[in-house]
Amino acid sequence: MNISELTREESYQLTLKWIKDRGVSVAEIAELTYFLQEPFIPNLTHEMCQDSVCTVLKKREIQNAVWTGIQLDLLAEKNQLAEPLLSIIRQDESLYGIDEVLSIAILNVYGSIGFTNYGYIDRLKPGVLKRLNDKSTGQVHTFLDDLVGAIAAAAAARLAHDQQS
Ligand code: MG
Repeated sequence: MNISELTREESYQLTLKWIKDRGVSVAEIAELTYFLQEPFIPNLTHEMCQDSVCTVLKKREIQNAVWTGIQLDLLAEKNQLAEPLLSIIRQDESLYGIDEVLSIAILNVYGSIGFTNYGYIDRLKPGVLKRLNDKSTGQVHTFLDDLVGAIAAAAAARLAHDQQS
């Protein structure tokens, strides 16, 4: 489907579908947001986190990052990229770093709190991030793990900003 034919709602729904088809639920991303923000926001609920994740996913610049990253993961999984990029992405080669760079496009939208949050969960790899980093499944999630971490961190930054206003 050509992008010019998609409504805002359709491009949002498509983004949700792409993420779900890769085995990740909005609830799992929201769980990371809750983990990040729970110490700082009294009465924070899982529903607030889920709403925040959904708001983040409605932004086109974030959808663009998600589509690009997931597409590269999928092509690598099907061996449809040219070498040496294919083996770099399949092995999640540690010096590559472009997966993190793509996620910065997501973090940029919500300012510096997002960067701190992202660095924190990227190091701890709680919840769904641990699963996505399991290399024994045959699936390639080189980009998706960073996208999910960045979406959760951006959603947490949104909640933090709301709290201050
Ligand atoms: Mg990665």
